[in-house]
Amino acid sequence: MTVRLRPEIAAVPPYQQGRPAPQGGYKLSSNENPFPPLPAVVEAVQREALRVNRYPRPGAPELRAALATELGVDEGSILIGDGSATLLQQLIHAVAGPGDEVVYAWRSFDAYPLFVRTGGATPIEVPVDAEHAHDLDAMADAITERTRAVIVCSPNNPTGTIVDAAALDAFLARVPSDVLVMLDEAYIEFVQDSAIDGIALQREHANLVVLRTFSKAHGLAGLRVGYAVGDPAVLRGADLCGVPLSQTSLASAAAIAALAHRDETYARIEVLAAQRDALWQRIVDAGVPVPRPFGNFVWVPSQPGQEEAIHDILAANRIVAKVFADGVRISVGEPEADDHIVAAAVEIQALQ
Ligand SMILES: *Cc1c(COP(=O)(O)O)cnc(C)c1O
Repeated sequence: MTVRLRPEIAAVPPYQQGRPAPQGGYKLSSNENPFPPLPAVVEAVQREALRVNRYPRPGAPELRAALATELGVDEGSILIGDGSATLLQQLIHAVAGPGDEVVYAWRSFDAYPLFVRTGGATPIEVPVDAEHAHDLDAMADAITERTRAVIVCSPNNPTGTIVDAAALDAFLARVPSDVLVMLDEAYIEFVQDSAIDGIALQREHANLVVLRTFSKAHGLAGLRVGYAVGDPAVLRGADLCGVPLSQTSLASAAAIAALAHRDETYARIEVLAAQRDALWQRIVDAGVPVPRPFGNFVWVPSQPGQEEAIHDILAANRIVAKVFADGVRISVGEPEADDHIVAAAVEIQALQ
């Protein structure tokens, strides 16, 4: 006899992590920031390292205070997590269990189905539109009395599209006030124009929780730190679904240092956004129909069954990217990789 897993857990397909870089190649598979950490971040981590015999302070109060000032919200409206993906999981588990449904766009972040299923709830995936963007009308139509949560990802991982402010307003007006809406803004800092203000929207909608991370634009992926902004009662439920003291003191110190040096951080973000726009223009000029990217990655559409050929193309161009059945997500990384990305995109397009 073997140990019996809960049936919904046994049925979950494994999460595909981005592959490592080939020798002398570029790892463009996890939307990481190619810049090394700021000197101030390294110093803060080193300073904090001398105290790692102690547990961190519960709830990371210093980081919460720094974020409250940064965002202009109450400290009680912020929950710190060991990455915003963890917070998404906690929120989903807090509101949705067996018999409940969670609605999100597809394709979107591939951790969503995992979190919904491990909580025992049922994923309801609403196809993105012909422009690879969320179809918010169809998502609102998919809400039933079983729906406990909806996830909106903007910019959307992996297609890079954003939701329109007016469309999001109309959508929020249609979602019942007892249904949680999670606005996943993991890449919001890379949106240089037409960004929706999730924090302002949150003030008007108690059922909205905004999720952000230090992993991408702030370049702290290895430390695991993110945050949620929302109704304190909702955040309390999510907090109960997490493990106490799982936000490390190193991660909090690094995030505080990154916030304190926001000018340097944002200068890098501007560089990456400009690089992304130029890269997109080159790919489109080469005849590959790639949706306009708003995160730090581009989405090259493909057809099911081409995965192996695509892995070969990427390897020949010395890049690793994340390959899905219907497209390839390639991160904006070292500028030297851009020529390889354009060449790979053209070759992938030629498979169609
Ligand atoms: C990267 C990412 C996150 C969060 O990542 P963490 O490292 O867990 O903070 C959340 N949502 C999306 C869509 C992402 O791509």
